[in-house]
Amino acid sequence: MSAPGGGQAPGGDDAGRRGAGVLGPRCPRCSKPPAACVCDLAAPQPARHRVLVLQHPQESRQPLSSAPLIPLALAGAVVRVGLSWRNLATALGDDPGGTWGVLYLGKKDAPPTGPLGFVTRDGAPAAPTALAGIVALDGTWSQARTLWWRNPWLLKLRRLVLAPGRTSRYGDLRLAARAEGLSTLEAVAETLRALGEPPAVPAALEHLFEQFLARWSAALSAP
Ligand SMILES: [Zn+2]
Repeated sequence: MSAPGGGQAPGGDDAGRRGAGVLGPRCPRCSKPPAACVCDLAAPQPARHRVLVLQHPQESRQPLSSAPLIPLALAGAVVRVGLSWRNLATALGDDPGGTWGVLYLGKKDAPPTGPLGFVTRDGAPAAPTALAGIVALDGTWSQARTLWWRNPWLLKLRRLVLAPGRTSRYGDLRLAARAEGLSTLEAVAETLRALGEPPAVPAALEHLFEQFLARWSAALSAP
């Protein structure tokens, strides 16, 4: 199990001091600086599974945060900033309408057999279930743990463990905030792919993220 504690300061703020192009006001829709805004590329894809991202308030201040980009590529995706909600319906602002899963944080020492596995509360493999939607926790490992414990209703959801066979597109821009090393957007894309969504759905998410990172990097290196 990799230690999540060391790299708690993601690179966003440091990066912000290096390039004038990533300073200044944030876009109200994607929360990115104008030079890295990707709202012109927004083309939300319909998906069979709904997606709810619970974002820790500290993560919402990170300019490199991937969560605000998710609704630009995924129709109906909901991102909530906060620490606790009474239940899934409150967090979603809507009727969940079926069984939901949550991307679980622990048990890295017992990866599932595929890219995505259902696990029991004890971390043992569980039978896959048809899901109406998935919840992802957005923040550093410790922030995600805070969200987990502040929202006991998450315990009632099916637990999903992701074992991606790849590393994050963040590259050197941002230290891996979480043990699995993927951004929240990438983790959602990998999960939707494993749940059987058409390839265009995760591809739209990943393409938007790549375009954002390209614009961010270009703004950093601009004079
Ligand atoms: Zn924007």
